[in-house]
Amino acid sequence: MEASLEELELLADTAGMDIVGTLTQNLESPNPRTLIGSGKVEELKLLAEDLGADAVIFDDELLPRHQRELETELGTKLKLLDRTALILDIFALHANTKEGMLQVELAQLKYRLPRLTRAWTHLARQSGGGGGRAGSVGGVGLRGPGETQLEVDRREVKARIKKLEDELDKVREHRSRYRENRRKTNVPVVALVGYTNAGKSTLLNKLTDSNIYVADQLFATLDPTTRQLTLPMGQQIVLTDTVGFIQKLPTDLVAAFRATLEEISEADLLIHVVDISQTDALLQRKTVLETLSNIGAGNIPVITVYNKIDRLDEETMDFVLPLLEPQPFLISALNGTGLDKLVDSISEQLYARYERVTVMLPYEHGNLVSIFHEKGHVNTVEHLPQGIRISGLLPREIVTQFGAYLVHGKTTNHPVS
Ligand code: GDP
Ligand code: MG
Repeated sequence: MEASLEELELLADTAGMDIVGTLTQNLESPNPRTLIGSGKVEELKLLAEDLGADAVIFDDELLPRHQRELETELGTKLKLLDRTALILDIFALHANTKEGMLQVELAQLKYRLPRLTRAWTHLARQSGGGGGRAGSVGGVGLRGPGETQLEVDRREVKARIKKLEDELDKVREHRSRYRENRRKTNVPVVALVGYTNAGKSTLLNKLTDSNIYVADQLFATLDPTTRQLTLPMGQQIVLTDTVGFIQKLPTDLVAAFRATLEEISEADLLIHVVDISQTDALLQRKTVLETLSNIGAGNIPVITVYNKIDRLDEETMDFVLPLLEPQPFLISALNGTGLDKLVDSISEQLYARYERVTVMLPYEHGNLVSIFHEKGHVNTVEHLPQGIRISGLLPREIVTQFGAYLVHGKTTNHPVS
């Protein structure tokens, strides 16, 4: 419970809230009306008043009925949230692509629909919904004959949901076309995955801002969380940041973000960032691996990196190391420790099936030139009197086709001419 509450605090902090107090209760079974006991509700009310709190966050998911009853008990001055609502708020703050924003609003509305109460509509209309664009749907809807205000609200929310779903369909179609184009260019995609706050974004920045690996051309339409990286041997890759995983992420929420997670399931390689300075680092690692297999990304090769080693003293290190695989990747995204080795390993993983070759192709073999460009990665091209000289990487299985023209290659099965 403590670990879970600590994480909730971190989530609240991410959403821009400060925790002023904590209240827990040990219950045999939840109270059907208010989740916590009625005495506890009173205690909560007094504590919130005492501390001048603006909001109450429940770590467990509140059923619509709990939400309604608690709202009545606690009054409208206190904003009532549960873990799911908080996570939705955070996603709303961080969504930066069109699709992401649509998804968040849709998930928020679906979450709120069964929880709509007079108190909620009243609040939403006043505040415009902190973190919730959904606040705007209240509108001044015309009431049909015999309809209550609540029914009008429900009707409007449902209409908005329908509209969002249609819009999302269009955006997705566009996006899959864009992804298709990217695949045609043969540029490998490496996705950063991991628990929230593990250091994924820091790592992305460190890797792509460092002068050695940075390059900003080629993809004019990259979204903000996707960057281009040039590996030491000159190959281009695309590195994407992703939403962090969290324990107790409700399943319908995972479903709602499926499209965003599709990016992950189509990656060529995953870098799993684990915050090794957390006491429950290994549990977090497990959560991430489970989520990956849930979204159909269980078969993609993974490089696991243990981040924030700058925060571990020697003693802790001695304790932690035996718990990890032999020769683990220990890094600090903050100060750059271990990143060169990581980049080398990315390069190795992605190009393990490639071979570095130089060929001298006679001018009449234009077809081989095309094959090299299509299937391989070209580094240099020289037009010489005796032919075209190309250096670069070729998939191992097609090196044979170039056998007679290899100038320099490390294959054992082919004589080097
Ligand atoms: P994300 O949620 O996985 O994208 O995590 P962020 O990249 O936003 O990092 C979360 C926090 O951890 C930030 O405050 C970072 O400054 C911090 N952080 C990331 N990497 C390191 C590291 O190697 N060492 C230390 N000490 N802090 C780090
Ligand atoms: Mg991040």
